[in-house]
Amino acid sequence: MFENKNRIPLSDFGEFKLIDHLTKNFSITQKTTIKGVGDDSAVLKLDKGLTVISTDLLIEGIHFDLSYMPLKHLGYKAVVVNLSDIFAMNAIPNQITVSIAVSNRFNIDSLEELYSGISLACKNFKVDLIGGDTSSSVQGLTISITALGQVEKEKVTYRSGSNSNDILMVSGDLGGAYMGLQVLEREKAVFKVNPQSQPDLSKYSYCVERQLKPESRIDIIDLFNKLKIIPTAMIDISDGLSSEIIHLSKSSKLGCIIYEEKIPIDQEAKNTAEEFKFNSTTAALNGGEDYELLFTIKQEDYEKIKNNNLVSAIGYMTDETSGCFMQNNLNQKIKLEAQGWKSF
Ligand code: ADP
Ligand code: MG
Repeated sequence: MFENKNRIPLSDFGEFKLIDHLTKNFSITQKTTIKGVGDDSAVLKLDKGLTVISTDLLIEGIHFDLSYMPLKHLGYKAVVVNLSDIFAMNAIPNQITVSIAVSNRFNIDSLEELYSGISLACKNFKVDLIGGDTSSSVQGLTISITALGQVEKEKVTYRSGSNSNDILMVSGDLGGAYMGLQVLEREKAVFKVNPQSQPDLSKYSYCVERQLKPESRIDIIDLFNKLKIIPTAMIDISDGLSSEIIHLSKSSKLGCIIYEEKIPIDQEAKNTAEEFKFNSTTAALNGGEDYELLFTIKQEDYEKIKNNNLVSAIGYMTDETSGCFMQNNLNQKIKLEAQGWKSF
């Protein structure tokens, strides 16, 4: 009986039974969640500080490709990229809502996979699933996630708060997710020609993981709290370093200079870029989907953080009239352009 459930088309399952089935194993862990899934609205009790809210919309064929993206990973990534926006405000996420539109190409089994990834992300980042919406679609899968978080009002960090001479820093390393995407796209093309081929991705495991199973940087928010640093400005890196630097600089009405040699790039991403005859700095600047944090701190805070290996200083802020530049390894000053990956 049970083993046949995968054959049940979603339409037969019915919306209410489906919602119940997908959400029944989620429990409420946050004290600010009073009522989660199951009524007309979720109910929260947010009694201190500020509430931050962010929404992302992911559309099959535009934002993800299910031919190499396992549904469990997709569920995980969909949550994580949303939480990254909450962390970018120096806030801690507590709740998410998940809305999905699915075509009849999907069965209950595939939605369970998607929700197992969502569930894992909820567990890892300690957020409650408190609601959503479910609909059928004419074609493909659409996922929209809204995340809610909280931050003390003294700590909230906007893109606009940076000052001239602040140090510009970045967490983790960049360009890996983009190189991972190149590897997956290549293997997909090979597979189309020769479906018997078995790709060996072990050489690219870091980059592929950065693309398929990104993490967002709650550890950096913890680090700020531990070191008693409040960044002056922050943004998460979803569209490539260059584009995010320009957003932060414009919002803060500043310019900046970064140094190519300081941009953190993993050795595997460098090797992969070389194999693809691609410049690894370009992957870091314009690649996207790294979900690292780009932030600025006051000069006087630099001592506290400079020896930490989770973050790297890549440059500093200048005044607005100077513009945004990178000094490359040949000592040339190159204007940064927002060539970030765009789905339009
Ligand atoms: P309404 O018709 O008022 O929109 P629904 O029947 O769609 O209510 O939703 C019932 C409950 O299930 C609500 O708490 C809603 O937030 C939740 N819910 C609906 N779809 C999802 C989903 N895909 N994931 C999580 N919760 C959901
Ligand atoms: Mg509904």
